[in-house]
Amino acid sequence: LLQNYARLLVRTGLNVQQGQEVLISAQLDQPRFVEMVVAECYAAGAAVADVEWSHQPLTKLDVAGRSPEVLGRVEEWKQAKYRHMTEKLTATLGLLSQDPDGLAGIDQAKYAAARQKTLQVIKPIMEPAENRYQWCVAAVPGKAWARKLFPGLPDDEAVEALWKLILFTSRADGEDPEQDWKVHNENLIRKSGWLNSLNLTSLRYRASNGTDFTVGLIPGARFLAGGDTTVGSGVFFNPNMPTEEAFTAPKRGVAEGLVVASKPLSWSGVLIEDFSVRFHEGKAVEVKAAKNQQTLEKIITMDENAAYLGECALVPYDSPISKSGVLFYNTLFDENASCHLALGKAYTACLPGFETLTKQEMIDMGANDSLIHVDFMIGTSDLSITGLTADGTEVPVFTNGNWA
Ligand code: ZN
Ligand code: ZN
Repeated sequence: LLQNYARLLVRTGLNVQQGQEVLISAQLDQPRFVEMVVAECYAAGAAVADVEWSHQPLTKLDVAGRSPEVLGRVEEWKQAKYRHMTEKLTATLGLLSQDPDGLAGIDQAKYAAARQKTLQVIKPIMEPAENRYQWCVAAVPGKAWARKLFPGLPDDEAVEALWKLILFTSRADGEDPEQDWKVHNENLIRKSGWLNSLNLTSLRYRASNGTDFTVGLIPGARFLAGGDTTVGSGVFFNPNMPTEEAFTAPKRGVAEGLVVASKPLSWSGVLIEDFSVRFHEGKAVEVKAAKNQQTLEKIITMDENAAYLGECALVPYDSPISKSGVLFYNTLFDENASCHLALGKAYTACLPGFETLTKQEMIDMGANDSLIHVDFMIGTSDLSITGLTADGTEVPVFTNGNWA
């Protein structure tokens, strides 16, 4: 099973090309599985398969032990690494296994400020490579993460149970996962194709929890779903495993009303619970949270565009992840259980003609740009979403939480 999963990530996730460089980032939790992934990279023709290990307790020590200035610095040799990746169009695989509480107790303000500073350095370096290299984010179990999901089980059984859950929700536990993903991608592309044929100008959301919200869409922007294709080299890859969503870029400045979150938001080791966001003229103007409201306020003020939306994603309430009924405390899974919005940066590949647009042209079209991209869940079993077209036609898109 694990061999199949490793092959799936390398072949269907990244689609590693002959002679390509690959960078895998992983926590220390599953070194044997990382070996399998590296072996699959070389088998697929990778020239280099490097691994960057990290360990949350070390991150905690760094946040505590470094001055704010040092913590926010990207040393020249690290910048050289990002320049190399931009030049080589290095494929990147992120293997998530973090303890959702692994950064609890750190100085959040210090950490967030440092992240903001480092992103300000890294983002411009990586920008020329945007949409041009394959990347994939997937998960493997970590002990602490498994313990949080299965508190009653001994550690090894909890890890085993989380492996099963990851492989099931990632559609990686069948006889031929690569074929299963081919079929899954075809289904998702059918859904996004239907949405794109409607030429919607806005989406209206209503649910009994109080959500009553309308968001504008960028004229001609596409809904994307499933795999993606790199600009230039035309390589098909799957950025997220699992993925169940069809998503697009909303029009900056056009969002009105209240959205009530349907799941807690786990951000930088803090769990924001029972929260809502009120939008006016596209901007989050008021946030309320029963727990950790300050963190939510910090998110929308990370930079001047962090309070604007960057994503509208449609996920049926009866998706496999939603059906599992498990809160993963990990956005990769939780966002694929539910319709969601994201604060911050838009995914520019949604824009018509994005291959040849400059960054400023994309912003002028209405795509938001920010250092952050934070997804939060709004899907419920009674959520209705109505699409509106330029001539005022209303098209039911979701009824009772699922595709109309
Ligand atoms: Zn999404
Ligand atoms: Zn997102």
